[in-house]
Amino acid sequence: MDNRSIIKQLKLQAALMELHDENSFKIRGFNNAVFNLDKVEVELATLSQQELEGLEGVGKSIATTIYEIVQKGASQALEDYFESTPQGIIELLDMKGIGPKKIKVLWKELGIESGHELKEAANSGLVANLKGFGEKTQQKIIEALEFKEANANKLHYAEAELLAEVLMEELSGLKNIGDVAPTGALRRKMEVIEVVELLVAADDFDKAEEEINALEGFEQDVKASGPIKWVGLLAEHATPICLIFSTPEKFVQNQLLYSGSVAHLATTVAEKQTIRELVQTKEFDTEEGFYKAIGLDYIAPELREGFFEIEAAKNQKLPKLVEMEDLKGILHNHSTYSDGKHSLEQMATYCKELGYEYLGMCDHSKSAFYANGLDEDRIIKQHKEIDELNEKLAPFKIFKGIESDILYDGQLDYADDVLESFDFIVASVHSQLNMNEKKATERLLAAIENPYTTILGHPTGRLLLRREGYPIDHKAVIDHCAKHNVVIEINANPWRLDLDWRWVHYAIEQGVQLSINPDAHEMDGYHHMKFGLLTGRKGGLTAEMTFNALPLAEIEKHFVQKKSQVKANA
Ligand SMILES: [Zn+2]
Ligand SMILES: [Zn+2]
Repeated sequence: MDNRSIIKQLKLQAALMELHDENSFKIRGFNNAVFNLDKVEVELATLSQQELEGLEGVGKSIATTIYEIVQKGASQALEDYFESTPQGIIELLDMKGIGPKKIKVLWKELGIESGHELKEAANSGLVANLKGFGEKTQQKIIEALEFKEANANKLHYAEAELLAEVLMEELSGLKNIGDVAPTGALRRKMEVIEVVELLVAADDFDKAEEEINALEGFEQDVKASGPIKWVGLLAEHATPICLIFSTPEKFVQNQLLYSGSVAHLATTVAEKQTIRELVQTKEFDTEEGFYKAIGLDYIAPELREGFFEIEAAKNQKLPKLVEMEDLKGILHNHSTYSDGKHSLEQMATYCKELGYEYLGMCDHSKSAFYANGLDEDRIIKQHKEIDELNEKLAPFKIFKGIESDILYDGQLDYADDVLESFDFIVASVHSQLNMNEKKATERLLAAIENPYTTILGHPTGRLLLRREGYPIDHKAVIDHCAKHNVVIEINANPWRLDLDWRWVHYAIEQGVQLSINPDAHEMDGYHHMKFGLLTGRKGGLTAEMTFNALPLAEIEKHFVQKKSQVKANA
């Protein structure tokens, strides 16, 4: 069992303890242990009970719990809670914005045992009347439930890609199946995937279907399937799968038809025909050949949204999309100085090993106390260590950055002389996420105006499938970044992908550069760069407009120039 699964169980157990009114001291101990275990590098499953007890924040009882989880798959306490708690209540525990204490009141006072019942009660106004709830909380519950319903069984892109790889591996071994390729939203690299769609080449669809049904774990939904598609699930995965059959001869044609968005396919081009009609009437062997035949430059699959790509392709104005090789450094990363898992040296060494020229270290700032944010003394300590490492790792360079919290009024959370000590600053919102659009936008505008702000971090704070971002006026924010020479982050964490790709094109038009930042909290986090890259490409991002495609000397120049503006304006 991996650490993540163990920690997930511990978190659930802590929530259930709260739900069942356990001693608050004990609960705090549990949460504290979880916080520390998140950063532990050794495999918990390999440790003895005694070794577990030696870990920071882990006492005898938690060590026993972990040991039980590893040995039996679940702790005895958790099993007992499962017995005494309705399944629906356990599911409600991971709803955002409403804690175990409130869920307990709903359960005990209103007899609610499922999300469905809770929604009914909230819609009828019963929840607002409970002590400690009120109209506002009731509304929040309704929204959270609707959000959860709307997102059930969906995956963010990175997870969908993994599932697709498993499927392709299984299918590629079959006798009656030829090429298999992602199609639909998956091929367009949409940030959230509802159905994992693959195009499957076969001469005989019935035989192919039979063979698929014989595969272990493939469960067909016969009703939803049809003569040219297999719909169903793969064991343990809740996301629907759609395998679309195509003869090998029509594979390219079908790929165009199934991977283009509705808007793309419905756009009228040459001879007053839509792309959909032209795909069905033109002769071509490849996708490149098709676009050429209708007088357009080749449009990459991720751009086929009916957004700006067709006009651009007509006028030979399609952007040359940024590639992985264009990226020269990795900005916005965390180390053990704040809430990261690996040390500064480990993060730097690995970044260099991956072939990058520089690393931007941006641990959390002092207001982020929950993430062990850096006070002024520890900043000095970190800067000293960076200087030493830079000597050792040259010509590779670590830039001294910080992810400075944007306070409720848009101020950054250090005094100017401290801000001055950094090479660059990523300014991000981490608290009071429930502002309305006007307030949230004003807050960002103020942070953008701060002359020390180099990059605006994850602009909306969204967590895909988990939490909507705070509402902002994207145009106003982007325009302000253009005016104040601030770069906007595309946070590459698969849960964020924020700035959203739909705003990348507008940002570029305003001359705002974008920085693809993994926000890595461990060495492996660097590999998320890929998903930020896909987000950028989907919005039409070029290497020229990608901030971290700048080579070391150039980005250093940018940092120095930006800081010199502070003095010039003082
Ligand atoms: Zn952040
Ligand atoms: Zn961060």
